[in-house]
Amino acid sequence: MPALGGPRRPVQRDYFAELGVRTFINAAGTFTALSASLMPPEVKDAWHYAANRYVAITELQDKVGERIASLVGSESAMVTSGAAGALTCASAACLTGTDAKAIAQLPDLTGLKSEVIVQKTHRVGYDHAIRATGVKMVEVETAEELERAVNPKTAMMFFLNFANPTGRIKYDEFITLAKKHGVPTLADCAADVPPASNLSKYVKMGFDLVAFSGGKGLRGPQSAGLLLGRKDLIQAARLNTCPYGDTIGRGMKVNKEEILGMLIAVELYLKTDHQAEWAEWERRVRTIVDSVRDLPSIETETFVPEIANAVPHLRIKWDTSRIKLTPPEVAKQMREGQPSIEVNPGTDAKQLVIGVWMLEPGDAQVVAKRLRAVLKGA
Ligand SMILES: *Cc1c(COP(=O)(O)O)cnc(C)c1O
Repeated sequence: MPALGGPRRPVQRDYFAELGVRTFINAAGTFTALSASLMPPEVKDAWHYAANRYVAITELQDKVGERIASLVGSESAMVTSGAAGALTCASAACLTGTDAKAIAQLPDLTGLKSEVIVQKTHRVGYDHAIRATGVKMVEVETAEELERAVNPKTAMMFFLNFANPTGRIKYDEFITLAKKHGVPTLADCAADVPPASNLSKYVKMGFDLVAFSGGKGLRGPQSAGLLLGRKDLIQAARLNTCPYGDTIGRGMKVNKEEILGMLIAVELYLKTDHQAEWAEWERRVRTIVDSVRDLPSIETETFVPEIANAVPHLRIKWDTSRIKLTPPEVAKQMREGQPSIEVNPGTDAKQLVIGVWMLEPGDAQVVAKRLRAVLKGA
């Protein structure tokens, strides 16, 4: 496997070191607070290319949007400020359409629709990005409740993709009900690649708008994202954000580097040999498992979340009367060692979780060796 983030070359100036900012091996995964993912060299090249040239932002968004739409088989597409920015712009689009007065008025909803329907198990902290437009979230559980909840104030129906297994109303029924009542749908698929086919799947399924993070599994610029879907709604979403000044999305600026970088990240992602990548992740898991399997009471297991972050994660458990450190204490020692290693925040009193997909070449060996040393030293 080539180095995805590119080789960690010797640097002229070690900026983070100068600042006293800790860098670490990412054995966590794509966590925003841990800076999520590294851009591949091709994306960084595009970033540097764009940084040296002026363009009109709307023209670049037009062309990049068309290209991304054709790559993933969507009617239309735009680059947003992350999936969260996509949720705000998408919601605004459903409220205002292309009406200039309505766009300027948000989040004041006087005279506009004001409700978004969501299944109870699909509520998530990120829906603050939807509520920012002024709407109220109306929670339902069953299809009957949903149909009763629809009224002239209903602006949109929201679907949290990874919650599909826990909600009573599944994809097909949700989309059918929305179409029956003429309400646009938005699916939050932020962390839902791999598989790459998901970039096409949910628009094909019939969601009107679909949001992805650009800087998680896609490895685009960390603060970029994608909004895919219906042309009229994407046009309205664009009118609700930067470069237009008097808009709710003005603070959700995406620069030319991010817009171009996002396109190149999508191109690259669709060309990636995902089978080879998966095999590499399994090799990393084995490297770590092999380093600790002989230690007393160690149990290891690989798990793959069904939808979001659907990649191999390693779960390690032990009897804390035999290895006298709790998993959070092990995580702390990993963090405080040299080099620092961040394990998955899913680590709790019962298990240590390691995410291997954001490791760079050679990192798995370092993690394996350190983990063994920490557990043996307990
Ligand atoms: C990460 C995430 C977001 C936010 O994505 P950004 O690209 O960081 O804005 C939204 N929804 C879900 C479910 C996420 O996992």
